[in-house]
Amino acid sequence: MMAVSVIAANLQAILGLNTQILPVQPEPEYAFIARRGQHDGGKILQALAAISDSSQFILAVVSVDIFTPILTFVFGESQLGGKAAVISLFRVKSKNREQSYNRAAKIAIHEIGHLLGIVHCRTPDCLMGFSNNLEKLDSLPLRFCQACEFEARRRLRHLFGKPGVS
Ligand SMILES: [Zn+2]
Ligand SMILES: [Zn+2]
Repeated sequence: MMAVSVIAANLQAILGLNTQILPVQPEPEYAFIARRGQHDGGKILQALAAISDSSQFILAVVSVDIFTPILTFVFGESQLGGKAAVISLFRVKSKNREQSYNRAAKIAIHEIGHLLGIVHCRTPDCLMGFSNNLEKLDSLPLRFCQACEFEARRRLRHLFGKPGVS
């Protein structure tokens, strides 16, 4: 899946995060809720968080539609300050492939922002702004505002250290 490579490249470019792309997994049938015809994002997060490996974060990219109990659907979901995040490509498809990838990258970086402990931001032009439709998502830049950027750097330094920087 090319979207995954684009996401990995952006995680590296924007946050300096190295990624390991894991083999493609089957669709998360365990999270399917027949009554809604959608997948429960929380269940996917639970399953991801239960995977024990040495990585700091784990991000699943799924093609099924996901929801949380309070929202009809979500582009992505994550554990604030935690390990696991999931994003869905279901609603971001576009005839313009580059646009779909760009949307996927935005959602992925936004969710990783949550894993770094950053909450939704009200500063205009910040990727940590909440979006629940494509219009809003497309209007967000693929970067954080100064405050969120600062917080992300601080947290990344705390988690991974950064040799040569005092
Ligand atoms: Zn969010
Ligand atoms: Zn911000």
